[in-house]
Amino acid sequence: MAFPIKICSICSEEFELKPGKPGFANRCPACSEQEPTTNSANPTKSGGNKELDQERRKAMRDLLYRKDS
Ligand SMILES: [Zn+2]
Repeated sequence: MAFPIKICSICSEEFELKPGKPGFANRCPACSEQEPTTNSANPTKSGGNKELDQERRKAMRDLLYRKDS
């Protein structure tokens, strides 16, 4: 399952553009969550540990890409 690799227009990181990804197509998932979007249907997720959540996302992304390449 190979998804097109895009460069985030915010943080310039590579990310997989998966079908149905929320947010902008030219932003990585982490950056998409930084700004309120129309589909902010996860109020419980944006609690107090937002930074921790992003750290974990970043780590997961790194893992994914390392495995990919
Ligand atoms: Zn980004």
